[in-house]
Amino acid sequence: VISLPLADQLHERAVRSLPGGNTRTTLFVPPHPPYAAKGSGCRLVDVDGNVLVDLQNNYTALIHGHANREIAAAANAAIAEGASFGMPTRHEIELAELLCERVAIADRWRFANSGTEAVMVAIRLARAVTGRAAVLRFAGAYHGSADVVLAAGAPGVPAGVSADVVEVPVGDLPALLAALDEHGERLACVLFDAMPNRAGLRPAEREYVRTLRAETARRGILLLQDEVLTFRVAHGGLQSLYDCEPDITTLGKVIGGGFPIGAIGGRAEIMEAFDPARDGAVGHGGTFSANPVSMRAGRVAMELLTRAEIERLNALGEQLRKALAEQGWTVTGLGSLARVHVDDPAQLWWRLYREGVLIAANGLLCLSTPMDEAVVDHVAGAFERVAGQVGTSSAA
Ligand code: PMP
Repeated sequence: VISLPLADQLHERAVRSLPGGNTRTTLFVPPHPPYAAKGSGCRLVDVDGNVLVDLQNNYTALIHGHANREIAAAANAAIAEGASFGMPTRHEIELAELLCERVAIADRWRFANSGTEAVMVAIRLARAVTGRAAVLRFAGAYHGSADVVLAAGAPGVPAGVSADVVEVPVGDLPALLAALDEHGERLACVLFDAMPNRAGLRPAEREYVRTLRAETARRGILLLQDEVLTFRVAHGGLQSLYDCEPDITTLGKVIGGGFPIGAIGGRAEIMEAFDPARDGAVGHGGTFSANPVSMRAGRVAMELLTRAEIERLNALGEQLRKALAEQGWTVTGLGSLARVHVDDPAQLWWRLYREGVLIAANGLLCLSTPMDEAVVDHVAGAFERVAGQVGTSSAA
């Protein structure tokens, strides 16, 4: 832990109005996280004036780094014309059209304010369309903070909610097939992330995904692929790298240009269940859903994220993973996402912080378009300097 007197002062003040000193459980690093002041490009400045190369990027959302000029201009233009309305706008049509072009399986979209909401609403859609209640999900995978995706027995999650959840280990095909045999008839959907961060950030095997798709289709179970985190790795999302088509997909993070967003996409015949003119339509609202600030900023962010930029970012990711592996770190990931596995992630986190490098508290890191090879070299150098202090080996 390094000396951050202004962050300590803020924390002391914060705990008097915010439990634990902030709003996001997911940001906790013991004893307490530092406070951000501002950011520009791939750098973030904390309240004590430390400048950090940001590989956390608000948990991977800021694929263009901080304060991107074109995205800020789009957001500012939206704010100047009224930040939200009790009417739809053309901007949500434009972002939906862009996503229709990028995501092969999805020809209809709905917007929400977060990935959490998108997953929650997508599960409701699957339940409504199939008339079944249960959801199969994978142990340790994170899908936000709706009750149904939290671990059974988590504080505040009723047993009744977890009774409709079947959980199997990630990547274990026999366990998956056994669960589908046992619970198939009551399953509305399988909630699947092809590279779950919390469960190790390892891409799923091709054969596994192929079997998952075939076995769910055969049983009338919808395949819900959560790409809130992974969409950044390919122009059409991680799903486009597998010859497998989910029925519903959820996006978030990068598609909002740094503003609150979530999205649910799927084939028209499934998604039309949301059509409010229909009898028994699936309910989904949200005062700020599809607000023009997120829509306009998100569209610019997506337009800036061309195939060429994704390729360049992914190559930088490869460069970083290779450099870290050569130093002896256990590193997983794909494209512009990586995860370093150590026994004590908090210790690694603070050591890197002292070296001017910010990663996520669990060892997740990601690249942003303001970065180049020199930045990656600089980051690799910081890892090399801390390697001796924290040890590079882990059971992963
Ligand atoms: N799904 C996945 C795979 C995620 O990584 C996250 C957030 N890290 C979510 C859902 C929830 O998104 P949000 O934080 O925007 O609610």
